[in-house]
Amino acid sequence: MGAVRTPLSTKLEPFGTTIFSEMTRLALAHGAINLAQGFPDFDGPPEIIEAAVEALRGGDNQYARSQGHPRLVRALSKRYEDLYGLHFDAMTEIGVFSGCTEAIASAMLGMLNPGDEVILFEPYYDSYPVCVTMAGAKARFCTLRAPDFAFEPAAFEALITPRTRLVLLNTPHNPTGKVFTRDELLAFGEICARHDLLVIADEVYEHLTYDEHVHVPLASIPGLKDRTLTLSSAGKTFSLTGWKIGWSAGPAPMVAAAQAAHQFVTFATATPLQVGVAAALERLDPDFYVRLRAEYTERRRTLVDTLRDTGFRVRAPQGTYFVLCEFGDLFTGDDRAFTRHLVEHIGIAAIPPSVFYGDSDDGRRLVRFAFCKRPETLAEAARRLEKLRPAGGGAAS
Ligand code: GLN
Repeated sequence: MGAVRTPLSTKLEPFGTTIFSEMTRLALAHGAINLAQGFPDFDGPPEIIEAAVEALRGGDNQYARSQGHPRLVRALSKRYEDLYGLHFDAMTEIGVFSGCTEAIASAMLGMLNPGDEVILFEPYYDSYPVCVTMAGAKARFCTLRAPDFAFEPAAFEALITPRTRLVLLNTPHNPTGKVFTRDELLAFGEICARHDLLVIADEVYEHLTYDEHVHVPLASIPGLKDRTLTLSSAGKTFSLTGWKIGWSAGPAPMVAAAQAAHQFVTFATATPLQVGVAAALERLDPDFYVRLRAEYTERRRTLVDTLRDTGFRVRAPQGTYFVLCEFGDLFTGDDRAFTRHLVEHIGIAAIPPSVFYGDSDDGRRLVRFAFCKRPETLAEAARRLEKLRPAGGGAAS
């Protein structure tokens, strides 16, 4: 009997374990408050949960239609019309996936050829470059620079080559909290149209925008609707991240390309949970979204104030449920060392953002905290962070 060869593919080997699993494991091991992985520590609306329970008890327990439960795709079509005046045919221009993360993977696998290039904006959600690699393509990175993380047309256009096939843009943006403006998206759309690029829009935080900032869907920008596959999900909006219900909306050929992969990845998504989300879209009144924004505005204020009082350099995010801030006045190491110190000695888990960068090392001086947490959790986090305040002005290391 000989040794067994290494099973992990060389494609996946460089990516290791996702930071979200790693930090949640450390949070549990150290009894730390988990402000790392972005999931609410409160439950979703009871009426949605009840609708899923009814579906489970009512026999909705076999495979759903692979492209999505008819009731859910109809509810989604109506939602895009009502919210943004965007028309997507329920049966041909909408698809349902097991979370937006599966939608991203299926869209990349369904649309990319080996050797293609894909432009990603960094910092990025960690699955993007992995999916590009799994699809046999190559990622190129356009760095969004602090403090504004603005779209820079010239820097973006300089990355485009004859091999560039696809670009992915996320707005509201994780982890920076940036909400791209209509003017930025107009400039982006003009370049994408001129170079005939396909676009994936990750809009999972679309309902989480603050103050005067509004979400502008990429599909509402001239030149983009015909080339954009919009992705979103129920997880963030309905505080049901464990349900893993995501969707795509876009031109029928792009929806079909993602579906071509999806049918062989998961085939279909959990039937009763699709019914639950359909019920949510059908029944929740518009006030739900107003309340959601008000509650998150309050959580954002609490965490931003806490971080500012502790000594972080903070700007309030325009959207999402994350704060990205600088810790240099409090600690002298890099972001990995700082998040290790936080989880082991302060009892707070956070994300070291260098994992969200491919080219730039901007992430080394930054840290990401999530505020999708109950007031008591954020209050306890504030108490723990007091220990981090520099006593005599010196930074720990
Ligand atoms: N999107 C969430 C975040 O950025 C986590 C997703 C995950 O855990 N895979 O925190």
